[in-house]
Amino acid sequence: MAPKVLIATRSFGSTSPRPAEILQTAGCDLVTADMSLEMTEARLIGLLDGVAGAIVGLVPMTARVLAQASDLKVVSAHGVGVDHIDLDAAAELGITIANCPGANADSVADLTTGLMISIARDIPAVERQLRQGGWGRHHGGEVFRKTLGIIGLGSIGSRVAKRAVGFDMTVLAYDPYASAASRKLPQLQLVSFEDVIRQADFVSLHTPLNDSTRHFIGPEQLAAMKPNAYLINTARGGLVDEQALYDALHSRKIAGAAIDCFAVEPPAESPLLNLDNIVMTPHIGAHTQEAIERMGVMAAQNVVNTINGQEPLNRVR
Ligand code: NAD
Repeated sequence: MAPKVLIATRSFGSTSPRPAEILQTAGCDLVTADMSLEMTEARLIGLLDGVAGAIVGLVPMTARVLAQASDLKVVSAHGVGVDHIDLDAAAELGITIANCPGANADSVADLTTGLMISIARDIPAVERQLRQGGWGRHHGGEVFRKTLGIIGLGSIGSRVAKRAVGFDMTVLAYDPYASAASRKLPQLQLVSFEDVIRQADFVSLHTPLNDSTRHFIGPEQLAAMKPNAYLINTARGGLVDEQALYDALHSRKIAGAAIDCFAVEPPAESPLLNLDNIVMTPHIGAHTQEAIERMGVMAAQNVVNTINGQEPLNRVR
């Protein structure tokens, strides 16, 4: 019988037929979830019935869901973050968890750089005014020769650091596990977490979300940032205490923030939506033609390899 593979992410294969072809050529039967409906645990359990492999976006792969999926052999994240997957439960159940490191890193690094300029020049606000007949001349600040602080110097963080060289920025980074290659990037100094927070004009977050990084940025860190500094978060909403961020932005303790990822998505109830010194995007970091194709190809190969008894391209657990 053809192994069933569940696709539970909106963007899989949306920019190229290649990801689906990899699964079909390997004889898999694709089941595509309707992602316009809310993905509750109960719904996911139903969708995983008889499924051997799953390619998932940010859906709740909890211990309860994994325990009920008795045929499931492999889950590949359609991206790099796996904070929505219970890795311990998967390990106990013998379910392979894989992901797609690097596949979207250039897209997220591009967005991060764009968001820095966007908040420094308040581009969305002046654009809105212009559409309404305004011609306001807001005085922004330069990114050129400023200090960029990177927390997490992995695939994305190191690519942001490379882009910053073009702006002649001083790059400070904190990452106790940084690779030898990223430690040698030009114009980069590895410093303490506190020094990044205290000295950077732009503090940009690029770590995974886990128990040690949750609320990495809270009231204490926001108070230690320069009053003219900006926080950029294209990693995960949970890295930031959003109430503390709201307070810091509202009271102008920091100049502004640019946020692609929220604690709850979409952030319909978030007070951040009411502020004028924040630029927000709807978790689009990986949403480019190129990244969607690369993630799809890699996720499909992760699933096919595992179903065929081989190693996935990148095993998380
Ligand atoms: P990566 O694994 O290559 O890099 C993460 C880096 O964080 C590593 O170098 C690691 O050493 C470092 N790190 C881990 N714990 C740390 C800690 N406590 N303090 C400092 N550094 C720490 O991952 P990546 O591809 O660069 O992605 C980073 C994160 O970005 C992902 O985990 C994901 O949550 C997020 N992401 C968001 C989007 C988006 O659409 N906005 C897309 C892709 C990834």
